[in-house]
Amino acid sequence: MEIAQIKSFNDKMDSFIDQLLPELEEIYKDIHRNPELSMQEFRTAKIAADYLTKYQFEVSTGIGITGVVGLMKNGDGPTVMLRADMDALPVAEATGLPYASTKVARDEEGTEVGVSHVCGHDLHVAWLMGAARLFSEHKDQWKGTLMIVFQPGEEVSRGAQSMIDDGMMDRFPKPDIILGQHVMVGEAGTVMYRSGAILSAGNSLKVKIFGRGAHGSQPQTSIDPVIMAAAATMRLQTIVSREIAPIENAVLTIGALQAGTKENIIPDDATIKLNIRTFDDGVRDHILSAVKRICCAECSASNAPRDPEFTDIDSYPVTENDAAATAKLAEAFNVRFGDKSFETKPASASEDFSIFGRNWKVPYVFWFVGGTDPKIYLEAKKNNKINTIPSNHSPKFAPVIHPTLKTGLAAMMTAAVAWLK
Ligand code: ZN
Ligand code: ZN
Repeated sequence: MEIAQIKSFNDKMDSFIDQLLPELEEIYKDIHRNPELSMQEFRTAKIAADYLTKYQFEVSTGIGITGVVGLMKNGDGPTVMLRADMDALPVAEATGLPYASTKVARDEEGTEVGVSHVCGHDLHVAWLMGAARLFSEHKDQWKGTLMIVFQPGEEVSRGAQSMIDDGMMDRFPKPDIILGQHVMVGEAGTVMYRSGAILSAGNSLKVKIFGRGAHGSQPQTSIDPVIMAAAATMRLQTIVSREIAPIENAVLTIGALQAGTKENIIPDDATIKLNIRTFDDGVRDHILSAVKRICCAECSASNAPRDPEFTDIDSYPVTENDAAATAKLAEAFNVRFGDKSFETKPASASEDFSIFGRNWKVPYVFWFVGGTDPKIYLEAKKNNKINTIPSNHSPKFAPVIHPTLKTGLAAMMTAAVAWLK
């Protein structure tokens, strides 16, 4: 649509959005109270699928285990894909909210864990359900094909790929544009966009280091894996500080370092788990190869019986927004949100959203919606304390429902009509 049409569409939708908010708030709280771990989103997927069916979408379920696709063909026009992720995290919620999750579940290793929506994917689901309903109830206001996608397993970087592997590209029309959004720390009521890289690539791997166990009093009979792991941990810090140009951005964090059981036993092996974030494929490849080089060299310095073993835990590509599509989105957002719509810096978080666009070879845009209570956010900003606001994945991550629920819903609809006729 042209800007004037987008404006008149938004004006018409505004009161319909307001009328829908109480229902959507109930849906949101229900999903929040009933979070499901990655690739186990059966209940959430059913809620979304039933809602799409109720509002006349052609619905397919069980794609890539729990993925849901709702199609609505409404005359000639572009095909616009809107995506939300559905999974929660193995984190016990500590927000103290009246609708906080108290759920526990078993993760893939069989361990019982607290589960909560501390990445806000429950909001993503509610936003997209609301947009689907309003588009369906106001079909006279637009033309084209809407493809609503609820995706599993974003947090384990498997969901988008599992839907693609389950024949998504053969079963559904190729979109002209793919749109997605994420709630983030930021003033509620705002939307933040960026052309090019908006989210980093993420690579996690496990490095198992092999030594030779022995009695703690007889180190000469051992090859100590604790020393190798400790030395490697320190040396790995030099990759970003010494091998990457200062104008590039990269993060390397060792989040787990495990060895041994008892103070007087030198163990057989040690394990390091590390996470890398980058915004450039060349930088990523360099860091990955440097990790292998340094770990192998440290082991060989200690005369280890064999090279370390490297296992990929997960891998996310860079989320790199198409420039022309982002310009179009920004224009529509600026009309809808005024000075509450602005350009943002890239975030060193990662998403598997771009897997759809990369496979289909179509442009995509991903943006952020602020979820922090404006009073808290502005106070923190004034005192230079934004980093103290609990962020996504914190057990205290608690987006404020109003106006965040409305902002995300309005943002999704505004973005979609920028492409629909
Ligand atoms: Zn997350
Ligand atoms: Zn997320």
